[in-house]
Amino acid sequence: MLVVGAGCAGMRAAIEAYDAGADVAVISKLHPTRSHSGAAEGGINAALGNAAEDSPEIHAFDTVKGSDYIGDQDAIEAFTREAPADIIQLENWGAFFSRRDDGKLAQRPFGAAGSPRTVYAADITGHVLIQVLYEQLVKRDIKVYEEYFAWKLVENDGRCQGVICWDLLNGGLHTIGGKTVVLATGGQGRIYRTTTNAYACTGDGAAMAYYLGVALKDMEFMQFHPTTLYPSGILLTEGCRGEGAYLINSEGERFMKRYAPNAMELASRDVVSRSEQTEIDEGRGINGSIYLDMRHLGAEKIIERLPGSRELSMTFAGVDPIYDPVPVRPGAHYHMGGVETDNDGATELTGLYAAGEVACVSVHGANRLGGNSLMETITFGRRAGRAAAEWALSHTTIDVPVTVEADAERELKAMLGFSGGERPWQIRQDLGTSMLENFGVFRREEQMAKQIEILEELKERYDRGVVIEDKGDVFNSDLTQAIELGNMIELARCMLQAGIARKESRGAHARPHDYPKRDDENFMKHSISRHTPEGPELSYAEVRVTKYEPMERTY
Ligand SMILES: Cc1cc2nc3c(=O)[nH]c(=O)nc-3n(C[C@H](O)[C@H](O)[C@H](O)COP(=O)(O)OP(=O)(O)OC[C@H]3O[C@@H](n4cnc5c(N)ncnc54)[C@H](O)[C@@H]3O)c2cc1C
Repeated sequence: MLVVGAGCAGMRAAIEAYDAGADVAVISKLHPTRSHSGAAEGGINAALGNAAEDSPEIHAFDTVKGSDYIGDQDAIEAFTREAPADIIQLENWGAFFSRRDDGKLAQRPFGAAGSPRTVYAADITGHVLIQVLYEQLVKRDIKVYEEYFAWKLVENDGRCQGVICWDLLNGGLHTIGGKTVVLATGGQGRIYRTTTNAYACTGDGAAMAYYLGVALKDMEFMQFHPTTLYPSGILLTEGCRGEGAYLINSEGERFMKRYAPNAMELASRDVVSRSEQTEIDEGRGINGSIYLDMRHLGAEKIIERLPGSRELSMTFAGVDPIYDPVPVRPGAHYHMGGVETDNDGATELTGLYAAGEVACVSVHGANRLGGNSLMETITFGRRAGRAAAEWALSHTTIDVPVTVEADAERELKAMLGFSGGERPWQIRQDLGTSMLENFGVFRREEQMAKQIEILEELKERYDRGVVIEDKGDVFNSDLTQAIELGNMIELARCMLQAGIARKESRGAHARPHDYPKRDDENFMKHSISRHTPEGPELSYAEVRVTKYEPMERTY
């Protein structure tokens, strides 16, 4: 079986599949430890109850409420129930989490959490996890097709049976067969001009599944993180606020007391981002930003618990948080939507699974809680790896028609041979800028309508052909960026179609000007986007409710 992606979700899936007895290989466009999971800072949530009373039930309630009641509750319950054992497993593999004086794993408060539940390794948690998982991969001698760019999935006989890849180092297309394929290709933040996401986060896995007609779910929900550095968009972890940092406006006021008087800076991310944006829009910002103030935490705490955030602030904003407040603003961060899966990562296409940020199980619904994503990569990476391995072990054949690779070769040749069109970066720039302008923290009907038109134009420009100047075989990023651009345009179309149709405000989808309230009667449902030759087709699916009835969300 194959795993596409070598971040936390992909490596956890591969390890589990191997341990279940499958012959597994991983395909990744990056070296595994360069995957974006390594940039995760603040921590990973599990109800260990080390810092205060906690339980999987409280974690589940917080997650359902945070999701603004469209997370699937059976998935959330499985997630919060299994997370503690998954953390212990990581610790046993060597993850050196920060500890309390009594020797137990330390847990810090994070936004909208009813108890301090975020396990962390200072503010380099993702870095630690990715190293530990890579060690486990190497220990098992799992084959990694490193710096292989997955371009297309192979579907034959109603099953997913492999992946067509471009070898980034040497050039050339390769078709790799697999009885099952797990997509673990991460997020798509690069659809936006400024984002916390790395250049590699271009939604390739979701696009590959979409082209085969596989359902994408809840595509309109893009999370804006409240504290991204101004102007670069680099993330400062929620751990800063977890450790006690304040948000202040140009008048020096802790403005969150007007928006979330109880939770203050630790309200859920959608609430904090909207509050910040309102302050900025109403003239109480500082050059388009507000301040994250850590000075009162003191040098010792900042250096011990938030060394990475201090370094980022000094390097990219020229500010040392020990002495000065840091300018931040909301930035595109995490995509709650993705490839629809069941609780074992299975998609509606036999043989195709998905886990991690590319997938929509859905644990996060309309708004993800900080610390829940790393945990999702581990718990659902493990579940998807197990399920995909079991399917692969109980079926014997792979049948990839020879025409599949020949067709791909022809398409590639045409792309490389095209001349006379635009350079891909021009279209990419227009995509990122317009998405930020028209589909950001607040959404207006007329801006969304305009963005739909812009996307149609961008698609037309792209379909007319883009010029790939580099015709070479070695690290042809001109070619792969052109493919990524096509993927991002298609995904953005799904986001806008689902966004304009959701006539309510829920989680990250805020329409204060025309539909300021959540509308459970008409919209407590998932949006489903499917590919058709005419464009995305929108439908809806029920939210799975177990015991948490929707309530008003206050923090
Ligand atoms: C700056 C930052 C900080 C964060 N901090 C936290 C945190 O503290 N806690 C938390 O819970 N969450 C955090 N998140 C979110 C979380 O880190 C991510 O959602 C999660 O790590 C995604 O993991 P993943 O395995 O799904 O994808 P990734 O780690 O992004 O891995 C994707 C993999 O897919 C591969 N890939 C992609 N496309 C292709 C292709 N076409 N062909 C081959 N391979 C491909 C890549 O090479 C890579 O190996 C943070 C996110 C960011 C951006």
